[in-house]
Amino acid sequence: MYSVHKKKPIRTCKKSLERYTSYRSYIKEDFHHSCGYCGDSDEFYGHYHIDHFKPQGDARFVHLKTEYSNLVYSCPFCNLSKSDTWLDQDEFIDPCCATYDSHLKRNDKGKIEPITKNGKNMYKHMKLYLLRHELIWVIEKILVQQEELLKLRDTLEEDSDKLKVADAFIELQNTIKSYTRLYME
Ligand SMILES: [Zn+2]
Repeated sequence: MYSVHKKKPIRTCKKSLERYTSYRSYIKEDFHHSCGYCGDSDEFYGHYHIDHFKPQGDARFVHLKTEYSNLVYSCPFCNLSKSDTWLDQDEFIDPCCATYDSHLKRNDKGKIEPITKNGKNMYKHMKLYLLRHELIWVIEKILVQQEELLKLRDTLEEDSDKLKVADAFIELQNTIKSYTRLYME
């Protein structure tokens, strides 16, 4: 089992800004360019959102509109699915909370799986079951492996069988990468 996040998000920004959108550059860094809920990198999707953890559609939380501690860097899929949903029992877990990983995990294939009732609620309301979350995880793994393979390729003899196998595999990896771009649009 793996953590949902490759690197744990943290909130380091101590500024108090007038508009929540002004935090974009800070939150992007603090969340390591990845969605707080599903952990997907923004490398595969153009414009990520800034989610209000406690939603703005709920009158109880309007005072938190520009509160950095209430903001989550989020992919559009998690943010739009979550919308203004807020549960008072078995509530959602803040991605920066130390216990996030005890509610949701990734299995060996990169699929996000809920562990607790809170995790199940997030899984359902943020649609963490979407295939894209597994696919992005696998593609990122392929990209890391491809870098290794390209280094290895440089050590192989010209016209050798090993080089042919390596080249065929690199070509296949590039094809998978191009499909991903289509899928993400
Ligand atoms: Zn997401």
